[in-house]
Amino acid sequence: MKKSSSTKRSRVSNESSEPNGRFHLAALEAMRYRLPDYLAARGVELRRNGTRLVGRCPVHDDRAPSFAVFGTDYETCGCFPCGFTGDVFEVSKWLGRSSTFPEAVADVAATLGVYLPQSTAGTATRPATVPPRPAKQPEPSFVLSAAERETIHAARLAFSDAFWAEEPIVDDIGASLGLDRETLRLASWGSSGLGLANGWLCYAYPHGLKWRNPDPTGKFRFRWIVGKALAPWRMEWVTPETETVYVTEGESDTLALIAAGLEADGTAACVASPGTSFLREWAQLFRGKRVILCFDTDQPGRTATASVAAILKGHAFEILTWKGTASHE
Ligand SMILES: [Zn+2]
Repeated sequence: MKKSSSTKRSRVSNESSEPNGRFHLAALEAMRYRLPDYLAARGVELRRNGTRLVGRCPVHDDRAPSFAVFGTDYETCGCFPCGFTGDVFEVSKWLGRSSTFPEAVADVAATLGVYLPQSTAGTATRPATVPPRPAKQPEPSFVLSAAERETIHAARLAFSDAFWAEEPIVDDIGASLGLDRETLRLASWGSSGLGLANGWLCYAYPHGLKWRNPDPTGKFRFRWIVGKALAPWRMEWVTPETETVYVTEGESDTLALIAAGLEADGTAACVASPGTSFLREWAQLFRGKRVILCFDTDQPGRTATASVAAILKGHAFEILTWKGTASHE
């Protein structure tokens, strides 16, 4: 009896916080699902596009609408070029309106007109069960969120849609890589393939999405938007029947080998080690294969050739280096 009346009083008198000073999780969840309202209040105009809401990014100078709100209840948003994804509280920080989680909660509550008692707002923290995020995260997590999985999936669908709709952007991509449509078609199959996000070519991995950046300053050529490579690109085409595997140091090199017809007879597969990094644990994937290393002939390429050959030794049936002229962007 006493317990139920206490629960009731707590619910009625204090909707946004608990007596112990932490934010009421239900109140946080409710605010999280009002992300579109928060963005509207911040002047971000959104329109529906398929399953998403899209608009101009509020942070970077955005002509194409690069910003999107997604998730089953529009609770997540992101900007591809900015490399940002997050919920309403992360958006508050991204927009520079807050710098800590309690400040973000206060900002979102104020923006949405959610009652948040003054006395508890200052002492609020994340729930004690959530560990603080480490300051530095050198490796993207192996665990992909639903939103990140959707980002990979959506990018792959977008490329496929653009390809079959014969959109000009596909020809632009082909021209920039020196590839014909047939090669783009072949390369778009499988769980590693090509993706398109807001007009940019991406290399899709089963657990990651790598943006091929058209950055004109050349500051960086690639950026992992989501996840990472758990295996070389297109590794799923190496089957027990595959005899020869061509390994390049980049996806565009691999595409060039496919265009040259190296996979045509069905006994060979072309894969890419993302950059010259090749993980020791990948050696077992090449067990019994004839491996032809097609890295660049510059110093990093020669160093990588030596180190990958050492990693593969004892696993691969034969290791060869290839002095061909794979086009490299
Ligand atoms: Zn942006």
